[in-house]
Formats: sequence, structure tokens, C-alpha cells
Amino acid sequence: MANPRESELSYPLGDALPESGGMLEVAPGVRWVRMGLPFALDHINLWMLRDEINGQAGWTLVDSGICNDATKAAWEQVFAAHLDGLPVLRLIVTHFHPDHMGLAHWLTEKWNCRLWISATDYNLARLASGSTVGMGGGTAAVFFASHGLTDEESLAKIRGRANYYPSMVPAVPASFRRLMNGGRIQIGGHEWTCIAGYGHAPEHMSLHCPDLGLLISGDMVLPRISTNVSVVDVEPEADPLSLYLASIQEMLKLPADTLVLPSHGKPFTGLHARVDQLREHHDERLAEVLAACTAKPCHAAELLELLFKRKLDLHQTTFAMGESVAHLHALWLAGQLTRRLDEDGIYRFSAVGS
Ligand SMILES: [Zn+2]
Repeated sequence: MANPRESELSYPLGDALPESGGMLEVAPGVRWVRMGLPFALDHINLWMLRDEINGQAGWTLVDSGICNDATKAAWEQVFAAHLDGLPVLRLIVTHFHPDHMGLAHWLTEKWNCRLWISATDYNLARLASGSTVGMGGGTAAVFFASHGLTDEESLAKIRGRANYYPSMVPAVPASFRRLMNGGRIQIGGHEWTCIAGYGHAPEHMSLHCPDLGLLISGDMVLPRISTNVSVVDVEPEADPLSLYLASIQEMLKLPADTLVLPSHGKPFTGLHARVDQLREHHDERLAEVLAACTAKPCHAAELLELLFKRKLDLHQTTFAMGESVAHLHALWLAGQLTRRLDEDGIYRFSAVGS
């Protein structure tokens, strides 16, 4: 959802964007690359960090783009023009989502380098690439139906999307190096710290460099849109919204003037304001959901209009359903709502005492 308080943030690079196959240097040795995506969210930011490993000069890449010919071609252009004749030495992936993980296999084979990622996201990527995990298919359709999405056309489309993740991440590297919360990585003479974040992906890693005053935030903090926080079929009683809010609260420990390098949108300053905005956004949505469930028992599907206030296509509807359940679960698992499974097989939530 668009950020109504965006004007509180600053974009130090103005409206400049890297062209396709090009790059912009955002700090010494830190290059911004932008690749297309075939979604409403039409681009992803990727980062190249000047590095040196065991005396060899080269680059660390952060995130990979989706697996398709256009993204591979854009990478080839970047490699031809913007590596200063040096090789790629390592690939860090913030989390397992297809736009971040898609070309990890291709890049690590091409450069014979290691993938660095959290163990949880690595393992989920391997599972999801070989089957379907919370991205579509029969179990996802059953899950959405149990939360009130009963329109047969949408359910049929969701059932038909069993190949959704593998189509964008056809392969995952056979080995990896594990990133953990608080872990420190030397990149080009600067120390970067891994910050685990929860609620968007199982174990998302952001990277903070105090020397350079940079935070590679991945998808945990974005300037314009709120990060997707969804319950999915594989963990049907999860409370990702509470996890997400606790994770971004941790970001307030970073300096207020940190330049945030997000996966979508433009580099910005105003991290503390953005965390505050995201908390406010979710607090408002939680209050609306609680009010609706005080008026009458509600299921997740009937809250979509209240939460999103716009028409959604199927891709957006599946994300929105996951978000709607996430808001219900945050209240349910905090004891403010009760949940019951009705005879029609749909979960409905009511405010305690209503
Ligand atoms: Zn993501």
C-alpha cells in the first residue's frame, strides 16, 4: 500500500535511477543495479560491493533478480561494463523470494562463487524450487478457502499455480554459506553486520555497514510500499505480523542518518520515520480489523476491501489474503480475537467479549 507519509523521507540521489544494464554508485565501492520484474512491482534493486577475498579483488553481489532471459541479458551488460575488469567473488541473497533468489544458481555457476544466505531461507528455496511451498497449488487453495476465498475461478487459478516458484527459481545452488543474526562479514575493508528479520520471509538478512552508514534493507523496510507480511498454508497458525513489527523495531537501534538501500524504490534516509510509519500503518489496519470483528464475526476474505480499498488481481489477491490472515492472527494470538471454524469450513474471528 502506498505510503501517505512519504514526504517525511529524503531521497539523497534525487530521481536518478540506474538504466537497464547500467549502474549508479551510491557510496564508494557500492553500486546500484536495477532489474525488471514481470509484476505490478516492476523492478528490483540489486547491489554490487567492491570486495577483496583472500587477496583477490572483485565484487560481492547482493540479490540476483528473477530467472528469465531479460534479467540474464541485463546482468551480462552490467558485467561487461561495470565490474572494472574484476570477477564476482560471492553472492549474498537476503531471502528466498524469487526476485532475490531466481538467478543465484546461474550467477554462482557462472562465477564459480559461493551463495551466502540464512539456512532457513536456503532450505525453503530448495524445497520450493522442487515443489510448492505456500506459493500456489492445491494446499494453498484449501488454505485460502478456509479463510473465505470461495470464488471458484480464483481457487482454480491458485490450484493451477503449483509451478509458480520453480518457474522463477528453476534451480538453487547445491551448497551455501550460512548467514546468522549478528554475523559479521568483511567486504572490501568494511565490516557489515547481518540483521535477521522475520515476518516477510522465514529468516531474512539485512546488512548494515556502520563505516559507510548504509543499510541494505532487502524487503524488510521499503520507502513507498509496506512489506508483504503473509500467513501461508505451510504454517497456517503463524503470526508473521507480530514478528515483522518486532523486527523493524530493532532497526531503530541503527543511526537515524543511515542511508537505506531497499530492494524496491529508491535509496532513502529517514529510517526511524519509516519504521514509525509502518507501525502506524499496521496499528491502523489492526484497529480496523478489530472493529470489524467487534461488529460481527469476520473471515479474512471479507476484510480485503476494508484493508486494501482497491480492486485486486489474482496475484495481488493471494498476497492480500495472506496479509488479511496475518492481521487477524496478530489479534487472535494476542488474545484480542477468538477463532472458530464454522460448519461451512471457514474460520471466522470475533472480538473477545463482543
Ligand atoms: Zn521478498
